Amino acid sequence: MTTPHHPAGHTPVPGNPYSHNAGGGGEAAYAPAPGGHAPSAYAGPAPAAGQASPPCRACGARIAVNFKVRAHMGILIMMKFEHLDGPFCRACGIAVVRQMTFRTLFLGWWGPLSLVILNPFTLVWNLTAYLKYSKLPPSAPLPGRAHLDTGPPVLRRPLSYVALIPLAWAIWVVTQIVTHEM
Ligand SMILES: [Zn+2]
Repeated sequence: MTTPHHPAGHTPVPGNPYSHNAGGGGEAAYAPAPGGHAPSAYAGPAPAAGQASPPCRACGARIAVNFKVRAHMGILIMMKFEHLDGPFCRACGIAVVRQMTFRTLFLGWWGPLSLVILNPFTLVWNLTAYLKYSKLPPSAPLPGRAHLDTGPPVLRRPLSYVALIPLAWAIWVVTQIVTHEM
């Protein structure tokens, strides 16, 4: 009995001749990331620092720097610390420094720890902040916005001289200590 040699098992499956092409979806893995500017994350400190820095938070001026400004109040054992973060442009930075330094000179001396340590620290800190902000070139605010009001310089505000009272007292105490030790 001769059976016609029918390789039934080999019958090619009619249908999906493209089945082995289905892997084409894999090419998505090779697709370059849209935009492909991942390396910009590594750009780090841009050479033109003026462009990269965020604008002034008060007025939106382009040229700004971020340096904390502090204020301190100390009355007996009550102490209050304040600080304001930038970025500020030149005009707004100076305004904030003046405002907070003035408050510190007026209200910062009236506790022992404040007088000896905290207030001098705050004033020196703000002096650094002042130098930082005053070194910036002036920068115009965004349309419709304005710089913070700088007000008069700290030393033209009479209440700043309240600082002379505890200062004089501190100097007196120190001279007493020194002269009694001699
Ligand atoms: Zn500003």
